[in-house]
Amino acid sequence: MIFNYGKIIIDNRDNVQPFYDGLSMGCGEIHFDCSTCGHDVSEETLLFERANDEISREEKEDIKLFFNVKKNAYYNQTSSVGFMKCSHCNSEFALYISSGEVQMGRYQASLVAVVECLKENIIVNDIKNEIKRVKDYSNRDMLEIKNFKESEYDNFCSKITKNFQLESKEDKIIGNNEVFQAYVLNGCIIGIEFDIWTGLSIVAKNECAKELLNNIYSWLVEEKKSNVKLISNASFEKNSKQLDKDCLESLKLIEVVIDFNEMPSIQEEFILKLCNILNAGRVCGWDAFKDNYFDIFMKVPPKDYVYKDNDEWEWNDYYDYVECVREWNEIGPKNENGEKGDMKFIFKNFHKFSKTHRQITLDFLEIIYHNIDGQITPNCNVFSDLYYLIVEIDGVLMDSFDKWSSLLKNLKLRY
Ligand SMILES: [Zn+2]
Repeated sequence: MIFNYGKIIIDNRDNVQPFYDGLSMGCGEIHFDCSTCGHDVSEETLLFERANDEISREEKEDIKLFFNVKKNAYYNQTSSVGFMKCSHCNSEFALYISSGEVQMGRYQASLVAVVECLKENIIVNDIKNEIKRVKDYSNRDMLEIKNFKESEYDNFCSKITKNFQLESKEDKIIGNNEVFQAYVLNGCIIGIEFDIWTGLSIVAKNECAKELLNNIYSWLVEEKKSNVKLISNASFEKNSKQLDKDCLESLKLIEVVIDFNEMPSIQEEFILKLCNILNAGRVCGWDAFKDNYFDIFMKVPPKDYVYKDNDEWEWNDYYDYVECVREWNEIGPKNENGEKGDMKFIFKNFHKFSKTHRQITLDFLEIIYHNIDGQITPNCNVFSDLYYLIVEIDGVLMDSFDKWSSLLKNLKLRY
């Protein structure tokens, strides 16, 4: 299963209280209100735990990381995590509960936290390199997304409408092999339309919707960039089977050393120093850093590249190509010839630093991890418009998902 986390709907992590305190080994019933339809979602605690024995270790690790699960969230109880579904609308939730026998024959259970699981992000994963800005027959601005499955239409619409607070202007119209619906925001109308020939289109239906469409475009591109964090281990394993391990040796990596002995412990200064080392401009705060950081990985075509319409680089037009190359060339580490390329980050004295500056290390590491998750081993046979990165931390090459997962887990669980 691939999922992403939505809203946290219950959070008792700072104040865990038992919902059950009695003699039954079943530990009473878990109850909470579905955040989508309002229905009561419930299950006996013991059955919840049994059902979730089945889920994969990676899924459990992921939920634990997300909630920062402690071994004993509440006195004498043991923590566990898993999924629960609303039987009414099928919305799925990840739960962090705590339960156990606290005295001879006396059982307790607590609901620690609940978060929405969103599966729709898989759509954004699937549209990698496939979002295009085009004009439709009436010369209106439009985004086109190929390889889109009809079954994902509803999820996709709800994700966009939620994010941009769009209201539906008409009922969904379902035809033969096509679905469409118009949405409105302050008088600006966009249509989200699917048919099996063109895939998904998002159309600016009036003049003032052009800007909204641009915002949707940027948002989709951002989602695409950050989607790597959404790839679960299941899909990672699937990918890694197709990966070419010899490819790594054939790459000429630009080595960037970050010695944490020399890194400042104040966040702003830490970020500035990082920007300096990575040639990432000068920014304030992690969000701004993240933007520039991702641009480091935007690939510039090789010297002998000749611009063509509609090639694998997917430039909007010649002007877009020139602008992108100019912008991306300004940022990121360069080799001795002043060119960008695939990279290896070498962290020295990292663990020592992370012990005393946990939050700063974690913030930085998560940005890095989101960028490399899913591409831990390079594949030379597949075109990519991003540079490849491998990280070595205190002499250990971080070449597997497991290594990252346990490093992040250790940092998060450490107090
Ligand atoms: Zn529901």
